Amino acid sequence: MIDKGFTLDPGKPCPVTVLEDVKLVRLQFGERTPLKSLKKRTRVARGALLAEHSSPNVGDMHASIDGVITDLTSTFVEISYEAAPPAQEADAAKAGDLAQPVQPVSFEGLDEIELGKLLKKLGVAIRPFTRPCELFIINGINPEPGMLYTQELLDAYLPELEAGFALLRRLNNAPEYILALPQGSKASLQGASVRQVAAVYPGSLARPLIKTITGQEQTKHVTLVRLHDLFQLGLVARSGLPLTHTVSTVFGKNYLAPLGTPVQSFLDLQGLTVQPGDSLILGGAMRGVAISGMRRGLRKADDAIQLIRKGSRPELSDNPCINCGLCLYVCPMRLRPNMLSRYAEFEQYESCRKEFLGTCIECGMCGWVCPACRPMQQYFRMAKLQLGLSTFQHRLRGQ
Ligand code: SF4
Ligand code: SF4
Repeated sequence: MIDKGFTLDPGKPCPVTVLEDVKLVRLQFGERTPLKSLKKRTRVARGALLAEHSSPNVGDMHASIDGVITDLTSTFVEISYEAAPPAQEADAAKAGDLAQPVQPVSFEGLDEIELGKLLKKLGVAIRPFTRPCELFIINGINPEPGMLYTQELLDAYLPELEAGFALLRRLNNAPEYILALPQGSKASLQGASVRQVAAVYPGSLARPLIKTITGQEQTKHVTLVRLHDLFQLGLVARSGLPLTHTVSTVFGKNYLAPLGTPVQSFLDLQGLTVQPGDSLILGGAMRGVAISGMRRGLRKADDAIQLIRKGSRPELSDNPCINCGLCLYVCPMRLRPNMLSRYAEFEQYESCRKEFLGTCIECGMCGWVCPACRPMQQYFRMAKLQLGLSTFQHRLRGQ
């Protein structure tokens, strides 16, 4: 008998630690255009606008701490905390607009178009919230092993979630809202009906979860967002201030941290060191991607960072498929991962397309059970990139 999934119940509380005194952040511009006024040694206030995106769906970028720009390239800006000297404080206007304290805005009286524009300016990626649909699902289940934040948000940050949900309903006039929760959860959101489902991976991912809730494979009429996304909307909704923080499970602990907090800061906090052969994984244990630099800053989409010790997992290699069939048994999309991986391995990408590669949700279950340790997800991601089917590129860009 093989495992067809993993329980996502953390088993014990994992409170969110709020990081108040982060002294350095590194914010990646992605495809945003930095303001021309950004220069090294410029003083910036938390919430000051730093870069804008031309798409109405992608949030702009703001300083996540008070400080001074200590490094600036075409791809990132680094801000270090530095107390303002008294003379400079008194002459804040001379220090420039970026140093002015940011004032909260009101969302009262705005129609959905104006509201969407304002939220985009405040750093929120509004596309998932505005997509027209007949059913809107909020995924209140930890999406992957290694993520532990959903119950903690529902317990400790319900006012933010309620505020975010109120704005969401102004942005998207869906006829029905469902909050998906693990069985036994007592949480709720006013205005959403609760649907309890088994919290077992990969049933927590979008397509399997939509199927569990609607009974249908068709997902076009359904929008699903993570509780993580709703929480970010809620931070802005409750404060009226730009999005500067996010929640993430980092090395097994939950943090509410400024965007741009370097991975190294989390390692230092927990007294961890990365040894040769260890891997730092951005995202969950099953779908995450390796990152190379410990100076990389936390981004909006990062709901987990993990440290995988050398030797704790089997090493993947281009071993030949031994036709055991185990991958067929676990695939939640009823694909033939054995055939897909062979086509991808030998660059027969059109055959991948005919085998419905676009349906693969990159859950990693096939690779997990493969006794030949074939790099299944890597094959599929490579083939999707070749076929232009990938959403993976967007994840790499951090949009
Ligand atoms: S990664 Fe793709 S092919 Fe493999 S089990 Fe998941 S959905 Fe199926
Ligand atoms: S689990 Fe691995 S070895 Fe077995 S059929 Fe699938 S790809 Fe081949």
